[in-house]
Amino acid sequence: MGTAGKTEEEQLGAMEDKSVKGLLDALWCEQTTNWPLMKKGYGDLQQLLTKDISVNNITFKAQHNPARIVSSTAKTDRESIAARPCFLCRHNLPAEQKGLLLLGRYIVLTNPFPIVDRHFVIPSIDHIPQRLMGGEKENGSKREQNGGQNSSQKTIHDRIEDMARLAELFSGWLDVYFNGATCGASAPDHFHFQAGPQGVLPLMEQHAKAPVIERNGGSIMLMEEQPRTVLLLQANSISALCSLWSLLTDGLKEIKVGDDQLNLVIRHTEAKRWRLWIILRSKHRPECYFREGDEQFLSSPGVIDMSGIAVLPRPEDYSRITGTLWMQLMEEVSLPADRFNRLLEFLKR
Ligand SMILES: [Zn+2]
Repeated sequence: MGTAGKTEEEQLGAMEDKSVKGLLDALWCEQTTNWPLMKKGYGDLQQLLTKDISVNNITFKAQHNPARIVSSTAKTDRESIAARPCFLCRHNLPAEQKGLLLLGRYIVLTNPFPIVDRHFVIPSIDHIPQRLMGGEKENGSKREQNGGQNSSQKTIHDRIEDMARLAELFSGWLDVYFNGATCGASAPDHFHFQAGPQGVLPLMEQHAKAPVIERNGGSIMLMEEQPRTVLLLQANSISALCSLWSLLTDGLKEIKVGDDQLNLVIRHTEAKRWRLWIILRSKHRPECYFREGDEQFLSSPGVIDMSGIAVLPRPEDYSRITGTLWMQLMEEVSLPADRFNRLLEFLKR
């Protein structure tokens, strides 16, 4: 018996994992068959030009994805956001778009402009800002489940905890992504995660160095051989994860990095439990994005770019990209080394 030695709870958990994957596979299949925009987007994804680009023995991937031009050039200033209907609110979704409700407060949707196969967007059912750490007050809307708890009571832990629980539902299959409001999110006014298959993001396949800090049930590590300022938080339980995250956010406050300046990826597997990669940013877009004519290089890095897939909507940028250029661009939008080192010192205290 495959379930021998497991508690009833573990067996139920295993069944839930299977059913979520089954339901999302069915959703993907239905939407790529019956929703013309999604069918085209998924079809186009199979035809995209891709190549490996390397520098100092590190290999990134480049992808020429014309459909991403809308997202890459999205205006995310307050006035532009206020002037457009929110495309993540349920009442604005296309009639053909269907979703799966998870945790009572997120809807999993297929992304009609995918960067990876099985690219999902996971908006909150409420129109509330893309914040992990409080800040702007949420507007007091009731949760549909969870005892009707007021969502304005959400604390810093809740979103990370939600992210960890979603990752567990997608265990061994999908990673969950988060784009901070000023570093990749094209809807900073509506809270959302994304998800994509495990094993496709180059950064997440790199090794970690020795721990910066070790605690009961978890650790925070530096990543090896990568240009970006990235930490890996590893934990055996959600409570250990939240406890380390709390310590980390104290450190982020100390060096004045807000939750809008983070890209996050979380993965759950049976063997390694939770792994949360934290990518620290200083800039939304590199200088070359704003130049004109031949000087312009149109890249607006979000979590997938920062994890090693350069998403380039224009053919001229795809033909020019090299490993060295991509590394320079990543370094430019990452947190400067001196502030990153101050964070490490804080964590080691
Ligand atoms: Zn909205």
